[in-house]
Amino acid sequence: MVLPKDFQFSQSSLQDFATCPRRFELHYLQRLSWPASEAEPVQEVERLARLGADFHRLVQQHLVGINADILTATLSEAEPELQTWWQNYLDHHPALDHAQTYPELTLSTPLRNYRLLARFDLLARQPDGVFLIVDWKTTRRKPARDYLAGQMQTRIYPYVLVAAGTAFNKGQPVDPATVQMMYWYPQVPAEPEVFEYSKKLFRRDEEFLSQLVEQVKHSAQNGHFPLVEDRQPCRYCVYRSFCDRGDKAGPLLELAEEPQEALDILSLDWDQIAEIEF
Ligand code: SF4
Repeated sequence: MVLPKDFQFSQSSLQDFATCPRRFELHYLQRLSWPASEAEPVQEVERLARLGADFHRLVQQHLVGINADILTATLSEAEPELQTWWQNYLDHHPALDHAQTYPELTLSTPLRNYRLLARFDLLARQPDGVFLIVDWKTTRRKPARDYLAGQMQTRIYPYVLVAAGTAFNKGQPVDPATVQMMYWYPQVPAEPEVFEYSKKLFRRDEEFLSQLVEQVKHSAQNGHFPLVEDRQPCRYCVYRSFCDRGDKAGPLLELAEEPQEALDILSLDWDQIAEIEF
C-alpha cells in the first residue's frame, strides 16, 4: 500500500497514528465507518456533541460580527447548559479588543511532500503583534496541562501558523516567539490553558513531525499498522469490537477530547475549503 500522494495530514490523523497506528489505517486509509460510540452513555455523548457544535456556531457567529444580544435571544429555549456556556463566553472570552480576528481559518503547509493542515477555531492577531490561536473545548472535563502539552494539536497548530502564516503578518515571516496556543473551556472559563511557542519549539516540531510523516509513509509501504499494545485507548475507540478489544465503551466523564461525533458535526469538507497554502 502506498500513501496517496494527495494525502493531507492533520492533528487528528497524526494523533491517531501516534495513539494507535491501526486506528490511523482504519480511519484514514480504509475509511472504515464502524457503528459504535466512543464513550457511554451514548445519548449523553450525542447530547454533548450537539451542544459542542451549537456552542462553536454561536461563537463563530459572534466573531464574524453578529450582535451578542441577538445571539442570546436565540437561546431562550436552549438547554440550560448551553446557555451557561454562552454566558461564560460572554463574560470571560479572551480579550480581543482591536485584534484582527479570523474565525474558522484553515492553513496548510508542505511537509515531506505531503500537506499538513490546521483548522483554527480562531486566529487573532493582537495589536502588539502577538498571534493567539484559540481552540474552544467543550469536553466534560478539562484535562491536565501535561496532557494538553503532549497533544499533537498543541504542536501542530503553532507550527503551521509559523510555517504558513506570512499573509497574516503583513507579508513577513511569523516569529515563533509571538505565537500562543490557547485552549478555552466554557465550563471553566476563567482557567484557559495557554502554551507559548518559540524558535526552539518550532525546530523541534519540524523534526518531530517530519519523522512522524516518514513513519506513516513506511507503515503504508510495508502494510504494517500494528494495534496499540496498551489497551487503554481502545476504551474510547469506535473500532474496539472490530479489533476484538472489548465491546464496552469508557465513561464519557473521563473522555479528554470532544466526542468524534462533535468533530464530525464540526468537520469541514477539506475539498470545499479555500485554504491558504504556503
Ligand atoms: S480498538 Fe484499540 S487497537 Fe483497535 S484501532 Fe482502536 S485503539 Fe487501535
